[in-house]
Amino acid sequence: DFPKTAEVVIIGGGAVGASTAYYLSKSGVKDVVVLEKNTVGSGSTGRCGAGMRAQWGNELNCRMALSAIEIFEHLDDELGLPTGLNQSGYVFVAYNEKEWEQFHKNVELQHKAGVMTELFSDKKRLQEICPGAAVDDAIGFTFHARDGHADPFLTTNAFQEAARRNGARFFKHTEVTGINVDGGRVNGVVTNRGTINTRTVINCAGSWAQEISAMAGIKIPNWAERHQVLVTEPVEPGVCPTMLMSMSGNYYVQQRPNGSIIAGRDSSKEKKLGYELNVNVIADTAQMVLKLLPRTKDIRVVRLWSGYYDMTPDCAPIIGETDEVKGFFHLTGFSGRGFMLSPVAGQIMTSLINGETPFMDPSKFSYHRFETGELFKDPLA
Ligand code: FAD
Repeated sequence: DFPKTAEVVIIGGGAVGASTAYYLSKSGVKDVVVLEKNTVGSGSTGRCGAGMRAQWGNELNCRMALSAIEIFEHLDDELGLPTGLNQSGYVFVAYNEKEWEQFHKNVELQHKAGVMTELFSDKKRLQEICPGAAVDDAIGFTFHARDGHADPFLTTNAFQEAARRNGARFFKHTEVTGINVDGGRVNGVVTNRGTINTRTVINCAGSWAQEISAMAGIKIPNWAERHQVLVTEPVEPGVCPTMLMSMSGNYYVQQRPNGSIIAGRDSSKEKKLGYELNVNVIADTAQMVLKLLPRTKDIRVVRLWSGYYDMTPDCAPIIGETDEVKGFFHLTGFSGRGFMLSPVAGQIMTSLINGETPFMDPSKFSYHRFETGELFKDPLA
């Protein structure tokens, strides 16, 4: 039966919404309802690169991401279902002196945050980690072995099932079309299946978050940015078992356990809605893969897909209750890191809803920063 009331309504059934439903229901909130217009995981979550890394250029980001990795390391046991965690590490590659200098600063702050990244320029060391990489033009590297990836479908499903066991309810094919506000406070969510009376709404709608906020009369500066990823036929295992990533080289590339190579780069990003594909991106990304991993010479691209980053002006999330409409909470704007941060996002939001102090202070992620200009800076974002 479709509910007429709920203690908390979560809009969006991606990794962030499902994780929040889990931690809220675990904390004892009885009546958590998740509304998803398509199917659970069908948004950016099911289209992401699924990487997780604690290597960031900002201490708070490092701490958040490290906490997320620590949670992921025990999540299968906690949720009773697999998340597909694979800690094969991330290597960042520097191609110029300025970037290499920045790597030194990044590693210093990473170590302060407990992220024990290795900094090296010896290419033999890189060959040990990633035997198939051709990086003659690179000048230095960082490697963090606890980084890696998990399966976004398995993870979101595991959160959903564990939340359900705690009494949370998920409604797919249920589109939110309006938010009722009365006297500066949320009092309901309108959907294509009826209205749910509630005093607490969490906007976990990812790339559609701006639309949802507008329904409550709130403006947020998010936009959807389309990214594309390609996947190749398998090559022999061990070519690139670690994620290779470079800001100046503009790529991320990794071999999956079946031997396929997955790769993406920023030249493929477009501010457009729709899941169309740009064929020029295939050629551009494939050239990059070929240069970086010469052993991919005779293999073909088998698939290309697109998805959205839910962007904000500083690529950092918006977390917290709004002042204009009490009971309306943002948990959006995760750009390229919402999957890896989903457990931390859910835990922080649960504390905020319960009026408790979160284990990590989210005040820097307040939407007020866009008015004051105190934007969040991270050279690795
Ligand atoms: P989503 O998964 O998009 O969920 C939002 C949900 O809200 C959707 O399912 C949508 O259908 C639903 N919704 C929208 N409007 C309504 C409505 N009106 N009513 C009801 N439901 C609604 N992140 C990483 O951590 N690591 C990576 O390596 C990584 N790589 C990426 C690569 C690509 C190509 C892309 C596109 C993204 C990548 N990301 C990565 C980012 C990551 O995918 C997102 O940050 C994350 O999935 C956000 O999760 P979410 O739950 O906030 O949003």
